[in-house]
Amino acid sequence: MKILVLNSGSSSIKFQLFKMESEESICRGIIEQIGEELGHVKFEYAGKSIKKEVKIPSHQDGTEILESLLIDNGVIKSFDEIGAVGHRVVHGGEYFSEPIVIDKDVIRKIEEISPLAPLHNPVNLMGIRAILSLSPKTRQVAVFDTAFHQTIPKHAYTYALPYSFYRENFVRRYGFHGTSHYYVSKMGAKILGESLENCNFITLHLGNGASACAVKNGKSVDTSMGLTPLEGLVMGTRSGDVDPAIIFYLSRELGLNIKELDSILNKKSGLKGICGTNDLREIQTRVEEGDELAKLALEIFCYRIKKYIGSYFAVLGSVDAIIFTGGIGEHSNIVREKVCKNLKETFGIEIDPEKNSQNESLINSSGSKVKLLVIPTNEELEIAKQTFRMVR
Ligand code: ADP
Repeated sequence: MKILVLNSGSSSIKFQLFKMESEESICRGIIEQIGEELGHVKFEYAGKSIKKEVKIPSHQDGTEILESLLIDNGVIKSFDEIGAVGHRVVHGGEYFSEPIVIDKDVIRKIEEISPLAPLHNPVNLMGIRAILSLSPKTRQVAVFDTAFHQTIPKHAYTYALPYSFYRENFVRRYGFHGTSHYYVSKMGAKILGESLENCNFITLHLGNGASACAVKNGKSVDTSMGLTPLEGLVMGTRSGDVDPAIIFYLSRELGLNIKELDSILNKKSGLKGICGTNDLREIQTRVEEGDELAKLALEIFCYRIKKYIGSYFAVLGSVDAIIFTGGIGEHSNIVREKVCKNLKETFGIEIDPEKNSQNESLINSSGSKVKLLVIPTNEELEIAKQTFRMVR
């Protein structure tokens, strides 16, 4: 069966087609600048890379372009060959702890949850509706970023705010990157030769967005992102944890309004806020050149991760492995080394510098009690697998 995975953004549709029997990726691409003067299409198939510029007024037009890309390049003869479409949906609220086959009721619920993820859920729905009108009979499945974290216990997901905010306004920790944390946990268990139910992990998804997850017996029991993806680790442009009173202070002192503060915390903070760029490769280069602000940004980034490792050790009691993933987790030996430094005595964590610099998948020293794993994440494949499981 062929499964098409869609990740719809406000002005883009990222897609990848899988053949599920072999779990192989057949083709992938991105349709960008939807709704702008000129749109861009990138498509990779059978070693070929195609780029086009074309006006793409809406997501509906985007999916029609996607259909023609697949047919014109001989990937499929008709859209009917697609067994199902799996959609990444950012927020499932408390409704969804599992992927689900999309029907009218599911669409209504995703809509209902939209105030919790106003930048994501409505555009995820655009993708769903576009496929619905392109091919009404094709089965569609929603896979939620929040679903894996629905096992977090109440004392860990409830904020110490007036309880009515939870009961009436759904304010609680939801967590994100769930598909990635779950995927690397499964892969980690495989590498250790254990079943996932027997594993305790701290998973670190370190990309432009970054989050940590405490996985106990294969289930998420805590995670660093909260009601929104702003809480927790330092990210490319997001602050992560800050004293909430800073917001009131800045509002009073600088007269900033809610919208401006939202933009500062989400888009102008994190690595970028400190040293001017959110590209960790550039930061590493600047550190080598002796740039003080780049050094500080890197230190703050790694220090925050370290603090979460310490607290998740306390949450889990024992940890079989720490798993690094995401663009930074997979590629930056410098970050991994800093994060693991001086943790041997208390936590039994020791990195092997040689294996780490070679980006091997097992990077702990032979004396390390805790295994250290580098596992490339593959959210699209995980969405395809979950979609396949739902429609099979
Ligand atoms: P996103 O969250 O947007 O999917 P990625 O997971 O692709 O982001 O991660 C992007 C981050 O990974 C950027 O900060 C980038 O600089 C960093 N990165 C990518 N490759 C490397 C590398 N070889 N060494 C260090 N950092 C890297």
